[in-house]
Amino acid sequence: MSLPIVVQVVVDKPLAQGFDYLWDKTMLGLDPQIGHVVEVPFGRSSLVGVVIKVSTHSEYEISKLKAVVKVAPLPPIDQAALRLMNFASQYYIHGLGETIIPAIPQMWKKPVNWEKLSAGLLVNDNKGPKKKENEKSLAEGFVSESQLNDVQKTALNQLNDSCPQEGFQVALLQGQTGSGKTAVFLNWLSALLKDKKSQALVLVPEINLTPQLERRVRAYFPEKKMAVLHSGISEKKRGNAWYEAITGEAQIILGTRLAVLTPLLNLSAIVVDEEHDPSYKQQDGIRYSARDLAIWRAHDLKIPIVLSSATPSLETWMAAKVGRYQHLRLDQRAQGTALPKVHLINVRDSQNQFSPGDKPKSANNICLSKPVLGAIQKSLDHKQQSLILINRRGYVPVLTCNACTWLSKCHQCSSYMVMHKAGTLGGRSVLSCHHCGLVKGIPSHCPDCGNADLKTLGQGTQKLEDAVEEWWPSARVLRVDTDSSRKSKGAEELFQEIHEGNVDIVVGTQMIAKGHDYQHVSLVVVVDADGRLFSQDFRAAERLFAQLVQVAGRAGRASKDGESSGDIYIETQFPEAAVYQYLLRHDIDGYLSHLAEEREEAKLPPFCFQALVHAESKSLDKAIRFLSKLKGQLQDQSMVGLGLKVYDPVPRSMMRVAGVERAQLLIESDDRKRLQTVLELINSDLRSQSQGRISKQDRIRWLIERDPISI
Ligand code: ADP
Ligand code: ZN
Ligand code: ZN
Repeated sequence: MSLPIVVQVVVDKPLAQGFDYLWDKTMLGLDPQIGHVVEVPFGRSSLVGVVIKVSTHSEYEISKLKAVVKVAPLPPIDQAALRLMNFASQYYIHGLGETIIPAIPQMWKKPVNWEKLSAGLLVNDNKGPKKKENEKSLAEGFVSESQLNDVQKTALNQLNDSCPQEGFQVALLQGQTGSGKTAVFLNWLSALLKDKKSQALVLVPEINLTPQLERRVRAYFPEKKMAVLHSGISEKKRGNAWYEAITGEAQIILGTRLAVLTPLLNLSAIVVDEEHDPSYKQQDGIRYSARDLAIWRAHDLKIPIVLSSATPSLETWMAAKVGRYQHLRLDQRAQGTALPKVHLINVRDSQNQFSPGDKPKSANNICLSKPVLGAIQKSLDHKQQSLILINRRGYVPVLTCNACTWLSKCHQCSSYMVMHKAGTLGGRSVLSCHHCGLVKGIPSHCPDCGNADLKTLGQGTQKLEDAVEEWWPSARVLRVDTDSSRKSKGAEELFQEIHEGNVDIVVGTQMIAKGHDYQHVSLVVVVDADGRLFSQDFRAAERLFAQLVQVAGRAGRASKDGESSGDIYIETQFPEAAVYQYLLRHDIDGYLSHLAEEREEAKLPPFCFQALVHAESKSLDKAIRFLSKLKGQLQDQSMVGLGLKVYDPVPRSMMRVAGVERAQLLIESDDRKRLQTVLELINSDLRSQSQGRISKQDRIRWLIERDPISI
């Protein structure tokens, strides 16, 4: 009798280990391979898992093992992809199964579909390049190698010279928005992809960025198949695109952070666009940084990777400074336009405000300063568009009672409920919590004292939209935020309206700040930036700076030499703050040096490495005690000291969400390896007293996060 075939399978559960199953070759019709996606019995039902080991024996009694039910009609996940998953699982202290399985699109995790898929897949509707999009849209944004300007050519040559055929190399491509970075890396990839087998992975931060970039990338590769992967597309589309990517049919893979884990047999180059963008960090499940994993992957495969940004993250920029990464600079706007002029408007300065005497009636509701109103008017007069950026959606952030101290707090979260006007979240005005999603009617009287005179505090996109419409009754005003883009029109349609010039003034959240290549915008106004100057999160100012540079880059793209280059107005109470002062001079390197000094002095990342242990419970007390105990144990085991620092547990800055109290323990080390060792120890210790990630004793949910980006 022949030996039994035993496979070890990992599933999407917080477990360190896989499970053994029998492989019945006659029934399944093929030999097992590492990387096969399979259906296995699990408890009383079944799960999808991945084979990570094949052998002929098991530590368990063979006769008791259950058998693999089905094999997916997919090529096995390749060795290199599995190495990446293994690394991610180890580094981010997360089970291997719960790292691999979530990276497989939903469509492929439904075994009932597998027969159908294997039969129907290859006659799928969206084969080949899209049917003739009109010529114009194909040519959109296409800049051939010969059209590159000298600075771009130099950068391209440097990229080509430093990556002769093979070899790991990280290059930081730094240049202001509009300096032509995209044109450089697409030309670079275009040459690499002449080889009909090679694949390139292009990561982009946001979904709403993808349509425009997608068209642009297609324009460079009209003949090649491209797979687009992000969570905003249908299950079927994503499933198909992923299949084309893993089978090597698609040569270009364009996607958001989740695409970094796609198995790609012939991957030969990676680009991470806007590498500093916080959305590369996954914020639930395995909390990986897609940029960091992309660099690891490039290193593992010995291929080049380009990180592109106008405002590189401090980590990346410092690596480039010390020569660990190649530093390529594009410091002019590609089409010859100058950078927009920055105006800091001190809102404490009475000159900039209406005095009660000269305040026109229609100014009752508008909270914009005089210079800003003037600038928008000028832009309207010149038939140019204005963008007003405000980082709060909804009508007003808080509702309050004038007679007592009642505020519209969410009873489930440590935050306020935001008022939304009728028609935006349903038929009537409501209070909505942006953290837990709770929606309530607006009270007609104060719930505490009965006073009927409730007042609003602050302003959100909706209120500003109203005020702007009132001030300029004949202007065409458009609001762009997640509420408006969820409604009748999708985000893309809203952006289309702007591009086609059907709008004079856009009021929006940071959604409008990113990536879009607006052709008619000459003015950008930022109204509520100060809030982030004094955050407890040490990265808040860095992010604010990046965002302001981004949004400034939206102004004046269209203007040609000699014309005005666009303006950005920032309303602030603290014009002397470093963020604004460096922005005023467009001095990105200056700001980054300044940050580097600050961080070095405070011994903060990248001058140390951090991790958080999160604890969640119905009771904050319990969560804190759980973490204190953990800290105590680390001290007892003499883990602390010698380059390892453990802080006291504290409530998270958003302490309560949906009724769950959240606390965190910050661990810091100046040595990555040491931190790794300690985290692994904590992990195995906590696991041993938990069911999954819930501690058995006091029902605390815990999670370890490596390299957190907000503290
Ligand atoms: P970035 O990626 O740095 O923001 P892009 O590559 O998107 O810059 O270029 C900005 C704009 O300039 C785009 O509309 C692009 O098509 C155009 N562009 C880029 N390079 C050139 C060039 N060499 N000549 C003319 N236009 C260019
Ligand atoms: Zn009251
Ligand atoms: Zn809430």
